Amino acid sequence: MKRIYLDNAATTEVYPEVLKAMNPFFGKKFGNASEPHLWGQEARKAIDLAREQLAQTLGAKAREIIFTSCATESINLAHKGLIEGLKVQESKGSVPHIITSSIEHKAVLETCKHLEKSKQAEVTYLPVDKFGLVKIVDIERAIKPTTVLISIMYVNNEVGTIEPIREIGQLIKRVNKLRHKKTPIFFHTDATQAIQYLNCKVDKLGVDLLSLTGHKLHAPKGIGALYVRKNAPLIRQQDGGGQEYGLRSGTENVPYIVALGKAIELAIKNQSLATKKIVSLREKLIKGVLEIAGTELTGHPDKRAPHIVSFIIKGVEGEAVVLLLSEKDVAASSGSACASRLLEPTHVLTAMGYSPEKAHGSLRFSLSRKTTEEEIDYAVKVLPAIVKRLRKMAPKGV
Ligand code: PLP
Repeated sequence: MKRIYLDNAATTEVYPEVLKAMNPFFGKKFGNASEPHLWGQEARKAIDLAREQLAQTLGAKAREIIFTSCATESINLAHKGLIEGLKVQESKGSVPHIITSSIEHKAVLETCKHLEKSKQAEVTYLPVDKFGLVKIVDIERAIKPTTVLISIMYVNNEVGTIEPIREIGQLIKRVNKLRHKKTPIFFHTDATQAIQYLNCKVDKLGVDLLSLTGHKLHAPKGIGALYVRKNAPLIRQQDGGGQEYGLRSGTENVPYIVALGKAIELAIKNQSLATKKIVSLREKLIKGVLEIAGTELTGHPDKRAPHIVSFIIKGVEGEAVVLLLSEKDVAASSGSACASRLLEPTHVLTAMGYSPEKAHGSLRFSLSRKTTEEEIDYAVKVLPAIVKRLRKMAPKGV
């Protein structure tokens, strides 16, 4: 049996088509896009095309796409850049207020904490329900006259729940209408786990800022992007040569930008077929895992991204299941890749109301459009014996 990779929410394989598109930019087409000569212009054209590919996916203008190194950088630029930009605009002295959820990725939570600690912003971390959903009424109640940014993720990376981004966008629009000439509320979404499978048209969602990363959609690690609506008064967080419309200086990473453009083009081209296939495999996986006694599905029963599925397996440590699955050549995860080294229950499951003991039994599988039925069958076949073995080893009462 070949190795089975079911950890695509952590990172994905770079597809051959993507490698093929980016490779020439390491070789013959190595120019610096800021130079006016042939080499430079070749690189510039390639960047323009990738920017257009991304802009089309988001229903945005090419001018509104800023290439970065990853989603984390995009999120930092969105939050810190906006808070700094508003400070410069307003300079009134009142502390701006941010609303986010308690189940965001650390990239959002730690950025918010930084802004809080440095007294640049006040932050409200909203609770979620047992499915991981943020409630619109909670957002409405949390809005203050000083609220300038609402940042809610589109799809949760651990449980796959889809947040009501469109409804939140509509709420913000209504609130902004009543604000007249006062600073509007800007809306940011971390669309890292959504971009491949869900509609990410920014006008439809009503978002002003949207972050994504290439390595979750079959481009390499080290490339991301931030959508910035024209009126968002962001200030760069990196000074230098003024690349990326002055918002992100540094010589453009042409091969990786090309790769992101190609990966997004392929993802959109294959979206409906891939979604159909992945959902059907995911359902098979859910059915198979739930046949093991003492297992439960986490996240929303139907408002969930196609590719992420997560369970609690009673009486075992998720980390141990992942290690034994790995011995059987299957890759899964017991939480987010970033949190799993800490061996602490993930903040997502505890925010959803799971006790730390229960949350320790979490197991996440995440699929890609290359996942096959045989792979799912194999994972479902080997899992029960692993769970049985671990339960036997567990001290009584766990
Ligand atoms: N946001 C979400 C929802 C993620 O799943 C991840 C990756 O784990 C990130 C942000 C951070 O992405 P990157 O590591 O590319 O910065």
